Amino acid sequence: DAKAAGRGRVMLFEPSMEARIRDRWALMADLAHAAENGELELAYQPLLDTASRRTGGFEALLRWRHPSRGMIRPDEFIPLAEESGLIIAIGEWALRAALAEAAKWPEELSVAVNISTRQLAHAQFLDTIITALMDTCIDHRRLELEVTESALLSETNLPILTEINHLGVGIALDDFGTGYSSLSYLQRFQFSKLKIDRSFIRSVPADAKSKAIVRTVVDLARTLGMHVTAEGVETAEQFEWIAENCDQVQGYFIARPMSAAEIPAYLAFESDKNRTTRSDVPPRV
Ligand code: C2E
Ligand code: MG
Ligand code: MG
Ligand code: MG
Repeated sequence: DAKAAGRGRVMLFEPSMEARIRDRWALMADLAHAAENGELELAYQPLLDTASRRTGGFEALLRWRHPSRGMIRPDEFIPLAEESGLIIAIGEWALRAALAEAAKWPEELSVAVNISTRQLAHAQFLDTIITALMDTCIDHRRLELEVTESALLSETNLPILTEINHLGVGIALDDFGTGYSSLSYLQRFQFSKLKIDRSFIRSVPADAKSKAIVRTVVDLARTLGMHVTAEGVETAEQFEWIAENCDQVQGYFIARPMSAAEIPAYLAFESDKNRTTRSDVPPRV
């Protein structure tokens, strides 16, 4: 009867869930105007070259300064942007903003920009990249795109990656090891860099299995002619072990993501530190 059906509906569709759906819609509507309202920002996290113990570049990470909800992290709004298609405009904004920022840095520093697979599938993507590079007059080799393995990174996206790579732009495979078909991507595309996911770095050096996995991934990368970056290095112990094995290290142990305005002071601090000490350990910022 009606009562039973009503009760059934209540069970399927709890108020809290309805509220959450409404909340998602509200957030998506806000997101549509976030860029034009100047609410989007990029934070920059250093990528430390282990050989020189110097910053080799920065990864640009999106932040959304929402007027009433405060700072929203990308894991919360990137999925919304992907579902709604807003990622095309937001991704272009991020690419342009990151290149404009990198143009102010010493020219040996690179900038890494995260790219969603929906952007790769977009017909104008190559044009967007070429135009953004031309507008900033930056050496193409200073730009690196980070793509995450996902079901959408398919055969159809590989030709575009090849064309971008031919421009001199690096292509990194992000969060390596967490996807479903990591190895088959390596077979089909020559990435310039592998970024080993934080989940493998977390239990190094205590856990023998994690160490074996990291060593094997590093071997694989070397054999296939790729650089290797370790993500999420948080402790001195992790750093010491990882620095022996990887070309680059990224993580809170080196530095947390910072605002563009903080970069000059960070670089100045780093070069002072390198001049005055012989420490093997990078500055903790
Ligand atoms: P990601 O590309 O793998 O970026 C690394 C994430 O790990 C960042 O989170 C960074 O703040 C965090 N992280 C770095 N070092 C450490 C550490 O030592 N410990 C821990 N616990 N975390 C660390 P964030 O900034 O929240 O970004 C999350 C994800 O959002 C990124 O993961 C990336 O997939 C995505 N994202 C960020 N910016 C963009 C963008 O402009 N476009 C697209 N499509 N995705 C983006
Ligand atoms: Mg990334
Ligand atoms: Mg990652
Ligand atoms: Mg990630």
